[in-house]
Amino acid sequence: MHWLIRPDAVTAFSDRGVRAALPKYIEVAEDRRDANFRIARMIEADFGDDESLEELWRLHSELMQEYRRLRRRERAGDAAERSLMHLKHAIALRMLERCEFCERRCRCNRRKGELGFCGAGAEARLSSEFMHMGEEACLVPSHTLFFTGCNFYCVYCQNWTISRRVEKGVPVTGRMLAEMVERRRIGEKSRNVNLVGGSPTPSMHVALEMLCHLRVNVPVVWNSNMYMSEKSMSLLEGAVDVYLADFKYGSDECAKELSRVDRYFEVVTRNLLAARVQGAELLIRHLVLPGHVDCCTRRVLEWVAENLGNSARLNIMPQYRPEFEAYRHRGLSRRVSRAEMEEALGYAKELGLWNLERW
Ligand code: SF4
Repeated sequence: MHWLIRPDAVTAFSDRGVRAALPKYIEVAEDRRDANFRIARMIEADFGDDESLEELWRLHSELMQEYRRLRRRERAGDAAERSLMHLKHAIALRMLERCEFCERRCRCNRRKGELGFCGAGAEARLSSEFMHMGEEACLVPSHTLFFTGCNFYCVYCQNWTISRRVEKGVPVTGRMLAEMVERRRIGEKSRNVNLVGGSPTPSMHVALEMLCHLRVNVPVVWNSNMYMSEKSMSLLEGAVDVYLADFKYGSDECAKELSRVDRYFEVVTRNLLAARVQGAELLIRHLVLPGHVDCCTRRVLEWVAENLGNSARLNIMPQYRPEFEAYRHRGLSRRVSRAEMEEALGYAKELGLWNLERW
């Protein structure tokens, strides 16, 4: 039915820009090639449950070399009983005891009930899952899993009941998620599984567990603010096919004021470059904020033009609306003006950026 609601989704895979930025995604979505997690699942990992975290990381770095040798294969071989993906999951579980999933590095023991900034405990909680028809055309229909909790505190958050855990959601295991993904992929022809929230990062351990169990081939889309730690980026290599990256700010001052986050620009750009080195594909979103074209939009576009060019798909989004606590911040209680959007799009053009999502 999605072709009735989003006819642009039907032709999206023949769009020149989508093909330039997301070639592997298209092949996996059409099941002509295997997703990265299936390659990682071929690689046998021999480790015991009592091995030290240091030893697990050492084995991970050794096996990742093999993954990088194999990742260009079109088809994966048989899955190992205990694989590199199981190792990634085991490491993530250990990391929960001193959480550094994201760059906040709260170092709390989530397995013992301590909570960090995101408020997520040891379990992942799912607020909802459905076939999303409102994402970028090439993603639709997108099987979207909304995890509660977020490592940012965006004063204008449109999903604030999820990110601030007003909606408690239901606890889910990786096996439960895998069954949902299989059902949507086989029965409803989802193009991908889209992991979001809040942020998926606090629930990374359960996302990795899901990939240990998943029996269908499907592209994995990591839909996040890109504030993962370097260790998390390392675990996500070989698990994620597409980073759907929310690149919000060009200024650390704006990031601090509006999302309560430090070292924003350095961390997010580091992770975008790491994603590229991993061989993952990039679809970048930038929500234009009222009054932030000069300080944020321009710098974001300049960075993308200089570092990624048109090899990343870019969505310059006009749909900001004041939500949550936005009314307390001067300038954020209105929508973006037509002039601001024209300035943003005109600047992208000036920089040579043509691989833009059209709305
Ligand atoms: S995922 Fe949550 S607990 Fe872990 S470091 Fe980030 S904000 Fe802190």
